This record gives sequence, structure tokens and C-alpha cells, in this order.
Amino acid sequence: MNRRNLLSLMISTAAGTALAPALSLANSATTVGAITAQKTARRSIAWRNWSGSEECFPQARKAPGSVAELQELITSTKGCVRPVGAGHSFMPLVPTDDTIVSLSRLSGVISHDAASHQAVIRAGTRLADIGRPLGELGQAMINMPDIDEQSLAGALGTATHGTGTTLGCLPDFVEGLQLVTAKGEVINCDRQHNSDIFAAARVNLGALGVLTEVRMQNMPKYTLKRETTWHPIEEILENAESLADNNRNYEFIYVPFSGMGFNDIHNFTDEAPSTTGKIDPNDGSETLKQVRDWLSWSPKIRELALSSVAKGIEKEVVVANSWENYASERNVRFNEMEYHLPREHGLKAFREVRAMVEKYFPEIFFPFEFRYVKSDDIWLSPFYGRDCCSIAVHRYFSEDHKPMFKAVEAIFRKYHGRPHWGKINTMNRKDLAVNYERWDDFSTVRRELDPEGKFLNTYLKTLFDTA
Ligand SMILES: Cc1cc2nc3c(=O)[nH]c(=O)nc-3n(C[C@H](O)[C@H](O)[C@H](O)COP(=O)(O)OP(=O)(O)OC[C@H]3O[C@@H](n4cnc5c(N)ncnc54)[C@H](O)[C@@H]3O)c2cc1C
Repeated sequence: MNRRNLLSLMISTAAGTALAPALSLANSATTVGAITAQKTARRSIAWRNWSGSEECFPQARKAPGSVAELQELITSTKGCVRPVGAGHSFMPLVPTDDTIVSLSRLSGVISHDAASHQAVIRAGTRLADIGRPLGELGQAMINMPDIDEQSLAGALGTATHGTGTTLGCLPDFVEGLQLVTAKGEVINCDRQHNSDIFAAARVNLGALGVLTEVRMQNMPKYTLKRETTWHPIEEILENAESLADNNRNYEFIYVPFSGMGFNDIHNFTDEAPSTTGKIDPNDGSETLKQVRDWLSWSPKIRELALSSVAKGIEKEVVVANSWENYASERNVRFNEMEYHLPREHGLKAFREVRAMVEKYFPEIFFPFEFRYVKSDDIWLSPFYGRDCCSIAVHRYFSEDHKPMFKAVEAIFRKYHGRPHWGKINTMNRKDLAVNYERWDDFSTVRRELDPEGKFLNTYLKTLFDTA
């Protein structure tokens, strides 16, 4: 049985227990803070992020068609200018009621070097649009996150990552970049030239200027075999460290209130591509929500229903080009918190998160995600100087995420976690300065490049000083 079949079976299992009366009760308790159109009186059209948790009413939305147009735009615009990618961050990094600038027209692979396996890519390119052209040049990105909707600059800006104990976050694969500053200057930087700007700009929150081009370290194109297998969570936790060390990409997903989860493993292969479709770990979210709605009044029956179905799911295997085999579609919207913890604390913290959520938050149904990321030397990278485990929790987009996220964040912070820059967290400037040893260095570079704070919106002003 595959995951899709699992879903129908879960529904029929739950229905078969004659619990339908519980349905109306649970449904009435779920909708909090749904997106409404209450601001239609405003003159400008709302911009919203993917989950709908952030919105603003920018006076102008610009999409320059060249670097020269971008320079002109930045120098001639009064007020705040915020670069935007695909709007997939959950934090208020983009919102401004002044000007939003997208590089959607500055997209594509510009050039490549066959010997070093490097390629220069326009910063507005969506990750989904990088794989095929790179493949035609014999190259592939070294690692990817679990969706590919993001723009390259947006993904770098928040230290977007995939999983793998030997693999850093995406900015760790950057070998050089180009930035247009608040004064309209074009700056090129790498480890040898403008090296401080390079160390700051690989993870930059869009606070240094607008990234226009990125030189990425890639590798020869490759095929990946992806395997997912379901197990009791205790078995997963026992084996996680060795599976992480012995496979190229390893992560596990846990379905709360089921006692079950699955290992998700990728390795290089020479096997021919599969003819079956992609694995989608998010396939079941709507169904898990329905099971929650029907059965949250009885955690025991809920666990019985979920685990008995999960135990019947067969191993799934997909072989495909690397760039087609990392990402999945996310059709069910959510808000997310993810922290990166020193690797040695990861599993212990996970156990605490699980116990706490299953004790106090029966309404949760979205799976937890547990990944590994290698350390790097990038000033604002959450992986700076330490190998990490990343733990992510989610809440359905229209439900109030704050109580659960607050409780989970306390555990993450106890274990010295650093938040994903693009995902919900409550760290303020003081907290961040304590957690990032190069915080002052980044702030200095930022002040030098943008003394007036043209690129600072309300949120970023709480983190950084102007001159
Ligand atoms: C469904 C979903 C799945 C996700 N999966 C993962 C995952 O697997 N791993 C992970 O690490 N994260 C993941 N994320 C988080 C996501 O990768 C980050 O939030 C990422 O920053 C979003 O990229 P974006 O193009 O949407 O950028 P935006 O959210 O639009 O912007 C992000 C930041 O980049 C800046 N920026 C954008 N363009 C430029 C530019 N040209 N120059 C300078 N700054 C710029 C913005 O100002 C902002 O500060 C996921 C998010 C969602 C919604």
C-alpha cells in the first residue's frame, strides 16, 4: 500500500469506528485568524506570503529587467525598498508599505565552467528552473530543500537547507555573488575580493542590498534513489544517527499521535529512472487533519487508527534526476517553526518536543520533520561553526500557531537552537547577538553598505541600527 491509499484507508478506518458525531464538534473549533479581505479600503493591492501570515500594502511593486534598471530604481526610490523572492518565508522579512522589488525578470543560468562545475545564475531564478538547464550543462546542485518554489536569492537570504550530515545549507555552495547596494553600486565579492561582504552576503535577510547574480559550486549531474520506509518512532530514533552517517541524505518525519514515522533516504545510483510518480511526504496532511477532527477526543483510538494504517504502508522507491527527486509540492498551507540545534542535542530535544505536544496539544496533526545540516563559516548562518539537527513543527495556516510554537520554542532555546531565518521565531536583537558570534561584524558591513537603512523594514529595524 502506498501513502495515497493510506489516506483513504485512514478515513474509512475512522469512519468505520462510527465516530462521525465527533466531526461537527471538532470542526467548529478549528478556524482562527483566517485571511479576510477587511483591508479592501486601502488603495494598493495586498502582498501576502505563502501561508498568509504576513501581508502589506506596498505603494509600488517593481520588477526591473536589467541590473541598470535595478540601480536606477534603488537610487531614485524614496522610502524602504524590500527585495522579494517567492514569498515563501513565514517571518516579516519582506513586508513594506513602500516598494517591493522582485527579480523575477532576472532569471536563468548565465555561464558555466565545466572544469570546476561552477555556474553563474541570476538571483531571481526559481530553484525549480535551475535543475534542467544545469543538467544540460552536465551539472547539478549539490543539495536542495524539500520544495523548489523559492528564488535562488530568497533561499540564500534565509540559509535554506536540505538534509545530509556532510552537506551544508545552500549558501555554503556559493562561491561568488553580485549585489546592488543602497547607493546603486554594483559590488562583486568572493573569498578573495570584498571578503567581508562575501561572508556577510551569503546569508543576508535582504538587508545588505539586492543580489543579482550568484556563482554556485555544483557537481557533475547525478541520479538519486529515494527510499521511504515506515517504522515505530522509537525504532527510528534508535537508528537515526547511524542512518544519517551512512546515507547521503537522511531525514525522518514523525506523524504526531501515531507512534509512527518514516525514514526518508537519498543515495547516488546508476539505476534507471522510475516510471512511477514522485514521493510526496505531505500527501497526507488533509487526511491527518480529518483524523484529528474526528478522533482528537481519544488519543488512544487516534493512535490505534493511525498506527494500524501506517504499519501497512509498503516501502516506496523513486529513482530520478537529482533535481526532480528532492522537492515535493505543498498543497496544504501551514505556518512553520524550525530551529537548528547542535547535533548532539537533536534527538533529545525531539523527544521532549514530541512528549510536550502529545501531552498538551491534541489538535496538532502536521508531521514533525528532523534533518541534518553540516557546519559552515557564514556569519549569519544558523550552522555557523557547528553541525546541526534541524527540527520543524507546523500548524495549519488558519489555526492559531502561537501557543504550540511558544512551548516548542522554549525547548529549542534550552538546547541552544538558532532559528531558521525564514520561519517563525521570537528571537530579538539581543538574543541573536548572543547566539551569533559574528553578529557585530554583519551589522558593521550592513551599516557601511546601507547607512540610511533603505533596506530595513519595520522588523529588520528591530534587529539592526542605522549609522
Ligand atoms: C512550503 C515551504 C517549504 C519550505 N521548505 C524548506 C526547506 O526544505 N528548507 C529550508 O531551509 N527552508 C524551507 N522553507 C523556507 C524557505 O526556503 C525560505 O523562507 C526562503 O527564504 C524562501 O525563499 P523565497 O524565494 O520565497 O524568498 P522570500 O521569502 O520572498 O524572501 C526571503 C528573504 O530573501 C530576501 N531576498 C529575496 N530576493 C532577494 C534578492 N534578489 N536580493 C537580496 N535579498 C533577497 C528577502 O528580502 C527576504 O529577506 C520552506 C518554506 C515553505 C513555505
